[in-house]
Amino acid sequence: MYSYNPNSLKAEEFINHQEILDTLSYAEANKDNLPLIDSIIEKAKQCRGLTHREASVLLACENEEKIQELFDLAENLKKKFYGNRIVIFAPLYLSNYCVNGCTYCPYHLKNKHIARKKLTQQEVADEVIALQDMGHKRLAIEAGEDPVHNPIEYILECIDTIYSIKHKNGAIRRVNVNIAATTVENYRKLKDAGIGTYILFQETYHKESYEALHPTGPKHDYCYHTEAMDRAMEGGIDDVGLGVLFGLEMYRYEFAGLLMHAEHLEAVHGVGPHTISVPRIKHADDIDPSAFDNGIDDEIFAKLCALIRVAVPYTGMIISTRESQSVREKVIRLGVSQISGGSRTSVGGYTEEERPTDTEQFDVSDQRTLDEVVKWLMEMDYIPSFCTACYREGRTGDRFMSLCKSGQIQNCCHPNALMTLKEYLMDYAAPETKQIGEALIQAELHNIPKEKVREICREHLEKIEQGIRDFRF
Ligand code: SAM
Repeated sequence: MYSYNPNSLKAEEFINHQEILDTLSYAEANKDNLPLIDSIIEKAKQCRGLTHREASVLLACENEEKIQELFDLAENLKKKFYGNRIVIFAPLYLSNYCVNGCTYCPYHLKNKHIARKKLTQQEVADEVIALQDMGHKRLAIEAGEDPVHNPIEYILECIDTIYSIKHKNGAIRRVNVNIAATTVENYRKLKDAGIGTYILFQETYHKESYEALHPTGPKHDYCYHTEAMDRAMEGGIDDVGLGVLFGLEMYRYEFAGLLMHAEHLEAVHGVGPHTISVPRIKHADDIDPSAFDNGIDDEIFAKLCALIRVAVPYTGMIISTRESQSVREKVIRLGVSQISGGSRTSVGGYTEEERPTDTEQFDVSDQRTLDEVVKWLMEMDYIPSFCTACYREGRTGDRFMSLCKSGQIQNCCHPNALMTLKEYLMDYAAPETKQIGEALIQAELHNIPKEKVREICREHLEKIEQGIRDFRF
C-alpha cells in the first residue's frame, strides 16, 4: 500500500490512487459549498494557482454562475500572463515504426495494414524545407517507440539535420521532442542536442487502466512511464510538457492526476511543467474513438482548459489540430498559449501535394493552411508568434517561470512576437495576411510598456524589412 507523497520519486506515491479517490470524494462533497468555492476562486484570482483538491472542487461544481466566474477568470489570467500572443508550431512525424500495443494508437504493433515508414535524413531535410517554406520556426518531432528502427541515435541525427537546414530565410530554431519514455543518459543526449521541451503524454494516470490500454511493449510499464519527467530533469532538461489523452479514463481522475504531477515536479525540481497538452482521442486507422467510453464533450473540454489555466497560471497550454477551428477558437480565449497550424500527422506528409492519410497518426480536424491559421488569429486580435527566444537565451525552467511571474513578459515576449510575425509577413504571407499583419504590428507596438524596448523593436522591424533576420530580446 502506497501513501501519498508529492516529494517521492515513486510514481505510485506522487500519483497516489487513494489520494485521487479521496480528492474526488472531497470534490463531490463540496461541489455545492459556495463559501469554499468562492474562497478557491479568490485564491486563483491572486494568481497563486490551485492545488489538485481545490481545482477538483471547481471541476465538480455545476453552479452556472460560478462556472461563468471561472471562465472569466481564466480569460483574465490568460490576458495577464500571455497577453494576446499565440505561439505557433508544427509536428514533424519521423517514423511510425512502433513496438508498443497502445490500443488507441494506429501505430500499435499489431496494426498490419498501416504503411510503416521512417524518414531518411534526406527526407527529413525535404520535410524541413517544406515546413520552412510554410513559415514554421518551431517543431515538435514525433516518433513511435522502436529500439531497432528509431533508436536514440536516429532521433539525434534527425535533430541535427533539422537544425542544419537553412533554406532561403528559413530556419527551425526550436525542436521540441515527443518520444517514448527513456533513460537519464538518453535525456542528457537530447539536452546536448539542443532540444526545447521534452513532451510525453501520460495518456492516463489510472494505473490499472494504463496497463490495460498498453497491454504489450515497453510502454506497458506504468511506473517507468510516469517517472520519465524526473529522469528527463535529472538528465538536464528543464522544460517538460505533460498531457493526458482525454477519453481513455474518467476526466476528473485524469485532471487530479495531472495537477498532482505538476505539484510533484514543482516540489522535487523547483519548477512545474513548461506546458500541458490536452489531446482528445480521434479517429485513426484501426481506431474507433467510440470504443472508449470516457469521451468528453466540448463543454467539459472547455471547463478543463479554463481550470488548467487558473490552477497553473505559469504553465503554457497547447492545443493541436485534433480540434476543430470552432473548438480552438473557444479554448484559445480560455488559456491556450500554443497551437499547431498547417499540420500533417503522417510520416513524410509535408512534401506531398495532397494530404496523405496512409500513415497518419490521427485525423486532423483543423485542416487549414498555416497562412489561413495566421490570418484567422489576427482577425481575432491575437498575435501569431514564431518566437523561440527564451530557450535560446537560456530562459528555461525556473528562469522562464521568473520572467513570467515578474510581469516583464510584455517587454520581452511581446516585441519578440511582433518581430517574428514581421519575418513571417515578409517571407511567407499571402498579400491579404500581410496587410492585416502590418496593421496589427503597428497597433501592437504601442503595447510594449518600456519606451526603450519599443524603440529597439521599431529599429529591428525596419532591419527585418531590409532583409536581416533573427532578432530577439
Ligand atoms: N510514441 C510516443 C510515446 O509513446 O509517448 C509519443 C509520440 S505519439 C506519436 C504522440 C501522442 O499521440 C501519444 O502520446 C498519444 O497521446 C497521441 N495519440 C495516439 N493515438 C491517438 C489518437 N487516436 N487520437 C489522438 N491522439 C492520439
